[in-house]
Amino acid sequence: MNAHANPRPAVRSDWTREEIAALFDLPFNDLLWQAQAAHRASHEANAVQLSTLLSIKTGGCPEDCGYCNQSVHAETGLKATKLMDVRAVLQAAAQAKDAGSTRFCMGAAWRNPKDRDMPAIVEMVQGVRQMGMETCMTLGMLTEDQARTLADAGLDYYNHNIDTAPERYDQVITTRTFEDRIETLEHVREAGINVCCGGIVGMGETRADRVGFIHALATLPVHPESVPVNALVPVKGTVLGDMLADTPLAKIDEIEFVRTVAVARITMPASMVRLSAGRESMSDAAQALCFMAGANSIFTGDKLLTTDNAGDDRDAALFARLGVTPMAAECKVELAAE
Ligand code: SF4
Repeated sequence: MNAHANPRPAVRSDWTREEIAALFDLPFNDLLWQAQAAHRASHEANAVQLSTLLSIKTGGCPEDCGYCNQSVHAETGLKATKLMDVRAVLQAAAQAKDAGSTRFCMGAAWRNPKDRDMPAIVEMVQGVRQMGMETCMTLGMLTEDQARTLADAGLDYYNHNIDTAPERYDQVITTRTFEDRIETLEHVREAGINVCCGGIVGMGETRADRVGFIHALATLPVHPESVPVNALVPVKGTVLGDMLADTPLAKIDEIEFVRTVAVARITMPASMVRLSAGRESMSDAAQALCFMAGANSIFTGDKLLTTDNAGDDRDAALFARLGVTPMAAECKVELAAE
């Protein structure tokens, strides 16, 4: 298999900030070369995982994440909804499967799920699993018991992003702490659920902050199995959207974004690195560079939770031009089991 042409790099959790900063500082071609080698050593060279994300409960969230239009603190006019009906969620999952997705991610705009919501959540997980897709949920903070309930239901992944560097956390969110995030991640790990954890760049941070963000992920005792790297989509009415609108910071430089992806790939070689929010405004060439830098997972469809996404047609056309194929579920299982 071409995936094993290079020796598989050691998975380390002892990265220093200096080492990570030095990777960011490499000449671009050297960085991409190293990232591509790390990628090929642990993953299929030209396969990209397709996941679909569904908002199962939109808006009205009491948290004040400065980037999010679902917060009650944002003035975006987004209408809050109740938790979706289980049947409607399963219908959407069936459509995603027909469109080629192998993972179905369900997101609810909550600070944390209430225990009364758990039976419906459990039914959703079980229903999607029965279709043969991997399941992922993002529901906010979890207690140990809730994490165990989700594990017993068969949940494959739990998404809980660290968002940004620890030292910058309170500039982005004030209603919870970085430590709160880590605590939920620990509950998820202890319950035996795979972790999906990344964050957002382009929030006006410095490169040192991006170093701190990757460092926080790459020094977790066990690396997240999935690492979503988002580029901020500045939405008017959100704190960050209003702050960054019409400034040169409104969109992260694409080369710097590719560098961030490459550093994530090198420091977390066995993880799936996912391009998430912000992909719709990226050029095809920038996305191609992200794949070269080791990104091997994307969200499909026209929408992420509430913001626009690239759309299936554009993705299919790009994949054809790049000779990239959707990753088969069996391939991931095989690699994960090795
Ligand atoms: S990112 Fe999640 S937790 Fe934060 S405001 Fe939005 S929905 Fe709530």
